[in-house]
Amino acid sequence: MGQQRIDLRIEGMTCDGCAAHVRQALEGVEGVRSVVVPGWQEGQATVVAESGLLDEALVEAVRAAGYSATVIGRVAVAEETEPVRPGEAEVDLLIIGSGSAAFAAGIRAAELGYSALMVERGTLGGTCVNVGCVPSKTLLRTAEAYHRAFHSPFVGVRPQGAELDWRAVIGEKDELVARLRREKYEQVLEAYPSLSLVQGHARLTADGGVEVNGRTYRPARILIATGAHPYIPPLPGVEGVDVLTSTEALSLPERPESLIVLGGRYVALELAQLFARFGTRVTLLQRSERILPDHEPEIADALADSLREEGVAIHTGATVIRLGRAGDEKVVEARVGGQVRTFRAAHILVAMGRRANTDGLGLEVAGVETDGRGCVWVDGALRTTNPRIYAAGDVTGPPMLVYLAAAEGKRAAENALLGRAEPLDRRVVPAVLFTDPQVATVGLTEAEALAQGFRVRTSLLPLSYVPRALVARDTRGLIKLVAERETGRLLGAHVLAAEGGEVIQTATMALRAGMTVQDLTDTLFPYLTQVEGLKLAALSFDRDVERLSCCAG
Ligand SMILES: Cc1cc2nc3c(=O)[nH]c(=O)nc-3n(C[C@H](O)[C@H](O)[C@H](O)COP(=O)(O)OP(=O)(O)OC[C@H]3O[C@@H](n4cnc5c(N)ncnc54)[C@H](O)[C@@H]3O)c2cc1C
Repeated sequence: MGQQRIDLRIEGMTCDGCAAHVRQALEGVEGVRSVVVPGWQEGQATVVAESGLLDEALVEAVRAAGYSATVIGRVAVAEETEPVRPGEAEVDLLIIGSGSAAFAAGIRAAELGYSALMVERGTLGGTCVNVGCVPSKTLLRTAEAYHRAFHSPFVGVRPQGAELDWRAVIGEKDELVARLRREKYEQVLEAYPSLSLVQGHARLTADGGVEVNGRTYRPARILIATGAHPYIPPLPGVEGVDVLTSTEALSLPERPESLIVLGGRYVALELAQLFARFGTRVTLLQRSERILPDHEPEIADALADSLREEGVAIHTGATVIRLGRAGDEKVVEARVGGQVRTFRAAHILVAMGRRANTDGLGLEVAGVETDGRGCVWVDGALRTTNPRIYAAGDVTGPPMLVYLAAAEGKRAAENALLGRAEPLDRRVVPAVLFTDPQVATVGLTEAEALAQGFRVRTSLLPLSYVPRALVARDTRGLIKLVAERETGRLLGAHVLAAEGGEVIQTATMALRAGMTVQDLTDTLFPYLTQVEGLKLAALSFDRDVERLSCCAG
């Protein structure tokens, strides 16, 4: 029996938890192979299922979950394709892009004995190394060092002052980016003789080829790994103002005196703190009622307090009315709490999300469909609607994380070349926001767990109970655990703490292993580590942490 892609319109979803709930309901239908629910706002779901599956089975499953569904389309999709015989085409795998997804795919292809050709229209290495993770995290660390010079919690070692050399700050960042691009991309390319690169814009052609610089390649399989770019929404007046995106903000030739940040998720918050710590006067305007609207509210609120204490002016529930200029300054007029207010700064940074790079890619002629957000649609095995074309990384939509992009690229290459349809296991995906304190999270929030029908218990441990935080004199933050009421199985862990990113991996392993709260309390954690907070948070489900001695005894 063949397979079909079935598109459904879903009504009644009001949050990300609803989207997860609908996905779970559809996954439970017999004959369903994979389900994608892009987000609750899109109001849609896409299922790959055996052709014989009736519309009613899907509609009924969604109805039973508390929503309503209508089937709006069915198309046949290819099942497992034939494995590629190495050398049967001029190139076995043509990869569009040279970022993290592309490199992981190219290396895997080479390991499996295939040839791969990457096509890159911009800078080798893509977003992460050039304009994403690497430059933002090294600048955050630099800003932290500068900030601590003045604000060390240990008064006795506080220096009298430190001069900021902006050119050196940017120079050191550029040097690290160049070094990592050389070591992790250029030299890796050289290390695999069957992996090569051509510079140019790639476009899919109707007859299965890929056109680059006027030449058409005829690969056996194609991988789209074209990433995403910063999204600038059509705000009134935006065309008359040079706004910054994260890309420009990370390379400003001078430290700005003042900055307005539009957005309230990870790029906005990291850059807001980064500049505030270098002495820029930062105002952050966020449309939702709180920053990080998809995170635990306790964590979002505590981070907002922490940033405000450092001088970042945060206005939530802010609707931008227009952007403009006044002399040398840039202006944002916004409605905040029922009042129209005017904010002025030297620069405006727009950090309101990222959009898939699909411009001029020829998706339509190649029969590659997109989802409701303009991202390339893939099933759980990274197959697009064209059986010879796969996609991986940011171009397939959120969460946009570099380690997920790499895992997808690797799996897509295996499936494409070996003729398999192995789905990628995405059940446990940790994520870290690199502010100080860091926000680190894995699994379900309390709201998501409830929306998925779990009965839950939660524990909330202020960091002031964690010995490591006490000796470091940095008790900003908290740990929240979410567990299934009946079994005690851990469903989610959410951390706001200095180096919280180092804590979350233990929780990630615990979730992956299906561990319970009891398992965590039975495990030995070394005393005076930040990760010990996980055990204390687990203990505090049933015990008063006030009454625990050292080493959680
Ligand atoms: C400021 C910032 C900070 C971030 N920090 C983190 C972090 O701390 N941790 C984390 O996990 N993630 C982080 N990310 C996200 C991470 O960088 C991305 O998830 C990851 O780099 C995506 O990799 P990719 O391979 O999918 O795409 P990319 O790395 O974007 O690569 C795609 C490449 O395709 C090329 N391309 C596009 N279209 C074509 C075409 N038609 N022809 C030829 N080439 C084309 C592009 O030029 C680009 O080089 C951050 C992102 C930003 C912007």
